[in-house]
This record gives sequence, C-alpha cells and structure tokens, in this order.
Amino acid sequence: MAKIMAVNAGSSSLKFKLYEMPSEEVITSGIAERIGHDDAIFTIKYQNEKDTKILPIKNHSVAVDLLLKALIEKEIVKDIHEIKALGHRIVQGGKYFSQSVIVNEDVVNKVRSLIPLAPLHNEAHLIGYQAFKDALPESLNVFTFDTAFHQTMAEEDYLFPIPYELSIKYDCRRYGAHGTSHKYLAHEGQKYLKKGSLNRIISCHIGSGASLSAIKNEKCLATSMGLTPLGGVMMGTRTGDLDPSVMDYLCRMENKSVSEMYQIFNKQSGFLGVSGVSNDSRDIIDAVNQGNPRAIIADKLFIRRILDYIGQYYVRLGGVDLIIFSAGIGENASYYRQKICEALKDSLSVIIDNNKNEEMIRGKEGLISTNESKVQVAVIPTDEEIMIARDTYAYFANKNIE
Ligand code: ADP
Repeated sequence: MAKIMAVNAGSSSLKFKLYEMPSEEVITSGIAERIGHDDAIFTIKYQNEKDTKILPIKNHSVAVDLLLKALIEKEIVKDIHEIKALGHRIVQGGKYFSQSVIVNEDVVNKVRSLIPLAPLHNEAHLIGYQAFKDALPESLNVFTFDTAFHQTMAEEDYLFPIPYELSIKYDCRRYGAHGTSHKYLAHEGQKYLKKGSLNRIISCHIGSGASLSAIKNEKCLATSMGLTPLGGVMMGTRTGDLDPSVMDYLCRMENKSVSEMYQIFNKQSGFLGVSGVSNDSRDIIDAVNQGNPRAIIADKLFIRRILDYIGQYYVRLGGVDLIIFSAGIGENASYYRQKICEALKDSLSVIIDNNKNEEMIRGKEGLISTNESKVQVAVIPTDEEIMIARDTYAYFANKNIE
C-alpha cells in the first residue's frame, strides 16, 4: 500500500487527488485557483467535507505548502512522507514519450524543450513539479503525457502534407491530446463490446476542449487534435480544423498579426464565436430552444464536425463496434448524444434508447444503445487522474506499466 498523489498544474491553478494504492481509494482532492493573486482560492475535499479558503497564494510553491499543511492539520495524513510518489499530468510529450516515465534531468529537459509546442501548459507543469520536488524531495515523481497514447499512429495519420523537411526539422506533426482520457475510455469500454467484436472504438471526449479518437484493440490509430489542441472538431472557444488560408485572409482583411488571429481562433471562436452567446453548451442549448438563429447554426456546426470525424474514423477502422461519449458535454448533454446518434441511424444503424440516454448524466456510466443497434453506444465518465495514479504506483511498486 502507498499514498500516491496525482497532480495537474496549470499556469494559475494546481489540482490534486490523493489515492491509497493499489485499492484506488480517493483520500482527498482539491484545487488551488488564481495562483499569483491576493484573492486566490484553495479548496480541499475529504470525507464528505469541503473546505474553501480565499487567501493570497503567491506562487505554486506556496500552493504546495498550503496543501501539505492542510493534509496534516485535517489529519488526512500523519506525516507528509506517507506520500510515496507523485504523478504529474504533462500536456505535451512530443515524439519523446509513448508512455509515462520516471522523472530525471533528461526528462525535465525534454519537457522543457517542448514548451514552444504547449507554451501555456508545459511550463506550468514544470513549475508545479519543481514545487512538489522541493517540498517532498524523497518522493518518486512520474510524468504522464496527454500525447503518449497517440504515439502509435502511423506516419500517414500523423504527418501534415507540408514540405517533409519542415515536418522533420521542427517536429511539426499531429500529436493529439486528451490521450490519457482516450486510453482510459478504450480500456473501460472493453466491457461494452459484444462477444466476437473486432474491438473498433470511436471515443468522443467532448468537453470545452473536444477530441475524437479511432482505437483498435486499445491502440490509437487516429485522433482529431493536431499539432496543438486547436485542431479537430469545433469546441467551446476553439475553431477546430480550418482551411489554412483562413488565417492569411483574415489577417490581411482585419489588419491583424498571426498571433492576434491565433488568439481569436483559440479563445473567441467555436460555440462562443459562432453563436455570440456563450462557450458553454448549456447556454447554447437554451438559446437554441429560444430560437436564437446564431445559436442554432453554432449547434448544427458543432454536430456536423463531430459527425464528419465519426465518418472518417468509421472508414479508418473498417467499421465500428462501440462509440463512447465522455467529458463535460459527452457525459451530461443527452441533447447532443441524441442528435449525434440520430444522425448516425441511416448510415451506421445506430439506435439509442431515449430513456437510457436521458438517465445517463452526472457521472453515470452505461450503454445507451438498444439491443437492435448495430453499434454499441456507451457513456463513460472519464478519469485521467486514476490513470496517472496507476502508472505512478506501478513504477513505485517496480512493476511494468501497460
Ligand atoms: P474541459 O475539461 O475541457 O475544460 P469539461 O470536460 O469540464 O471541459 O466540459 C465543459 C463543458 O461541459 C461545458 O461546455 C459545459 O457546458 C458542458 N456541460 C457540463 N454539464 C452539462 C450539462 N448538464 N448539459 C450540457 N452541457 C454540459
């Protein structure tokens, strides 16, 4: 037995979840938000209690100290050295990492060298890692990469049709994202496959960031996000895939720089930009029900882009046995699941049970397809933290990781 902490450090936040492993019992979880501000928020949940404090948190080291002190004060652990290992979520592992790794200097240098590919994320992850390493120097540290699961893609699935020298010189290619989630979904999804199926899964991780993956025998063949999480389907504020000439045309017409337009594609597009209403799918659904024309087109565009990828992956996999919905929208918006599945009825003979679909919200897991449906359709709440904790514990216990 060992206590393992899964850590997700962002530029101004630090999420944590402490597990007893291998039983996978969650001991405590929480988040420090607005790090760097005088009115930062520290929340910790334990034994059905939730404690929130508003206080100055200067930097990530202060957040880590606050957390470790809270663990002792609340008697969640007797001694902070009970935390034997820490698993850190890293967004971009580039071409270097196809699985989780024990952290050493070389690993840190590689993650640092990838900062240009994930400027907001990788730098913050390293700051979070360093803060924990300073506070708990004897604990084992493991990095788990969002990109690792997608490293099994073939060259023709990950290369962009740009001059090959540029692909190689700058490692400019599709890396994908949400890999830890897609891996979890593919693994959990095994129990919903019909006997004798060919184990072809399309996993739809649809939250404010969204990506789809084509997975065969739990190996990723293709994924929708690209060089960065801007690619693929339309999202809360992100465009997803575009004709690349849109960038040049709009920069010229609006007299904006590439980086200004890039911000617009990342932060002011998607649901928000098309509808002018909100980046939140709940607001979009409300506005659609009120007949707002821009919300109606945003809603249709969002669905169309997801269907386009499902069609693509159906062909890539040579068929599909299971479609999985997950993340904020996939787990909660029965409205979108219903619309997407309805549109797949004629082509893929997908049939869902509307009552089951309505029930499958707020953390519930199960099939929403009927027995007659040719393709199984499941809702599976994702759990990236448990994947991080499992890999970290495996290294701690000196076992091979999957
Ligand atoms: P991320 O992790 O990418 O920030 P999440 O997976 O938390 O995003 O998903 C956030 C999205 O989930 C938001 O667009 C929100 O509208 C949507 N969502 C959450 N609950 C519901 C719900 N009950 N109905 C519709 N959409 C929901």
